[in-house]
Amino acid sequence: MTSQRTRERLVRRLAEQGIQDERVLDVMRRTPRHLFLDEAMAHRAYEDTALPIGFQQTLSQPYIVARMTELLLEQGLRSRVLEIGTGSGYQTAVLAQLVDEVWSVERIKPLLDKARARLRQLKLRNVRFSHADGGLGWEEAAPFDGILSTAAPESIPEDLLLQLAPGGCLVIPVGASLQNLQVITRTSEGYETRLVEAVRFVPLRSGTVK
Ligand code: SAH
Repeated sequence: MTSQRTRERLVRRLAEQGIQDERVLDVMRRTPRHLFLDEAMAHRAYEDTALPIGFQQTLSQPYIVARMTELLLEQGLRSRVLEIGTGSGYQTAVLAQLVDEVWSVERIKPLLDKARARLRQLKLRNVRFSHADGGLGWEEAAPFDGILSTAAPESIPEDLLLQLAPGGCLVIPVGASLQNLQVITRTSEGYETRLVEAVRFVPLRSGTVK
């Protein structure tokens, strides 16, 4: 169930669905998604579907993890990346293997603690975590050359735009019930927005949960 062969099959399916970046596919081939789920759910880890992680939150569907990562890396490697919505830590682990430094923010403390332990277990040490409202970004660590949000705001928080370095991009689902995955790039003149595809994410909520 959790074998390399099952993971190979998942990666083949991602490629069939249009994921082209070999670096992303390689990392997903290597990363044990079952370790990011509670035992009762682990047998479903290599299905291409979102899965519950408690607190009414979900581990994103592998296709979406791959797609967002591919979009983030599209215009070259990113060295400092901010992730909003650590959740299980799976997307964090994928990012940590592709960029120099990941800064990951989660508002629900028990989820953050579990994710931190999982990354430690996998010896991924280039990640810093914060229990905070990621809608405000991570001001002390800004600017970032990539920001990826795995929770959807109804409109894009201005702090995130301000914390992008020139040339940096923000990959984020935006909207209430109908959401669109957007890539916003900071240019010398301002910001350029590209709409990618319809998606469904949990909402970005303000405040924190102990
Ligand atoms: N990348 C995660 C997805 C988790 S779902 C994974 O694959 O496991 C989105 C996460 O965003 C949830 O854990 C939720 O608690 C968190 N979240 C929602 N609003 C947030 C906010 N304002 N700041 C930080 N995290 C937030």
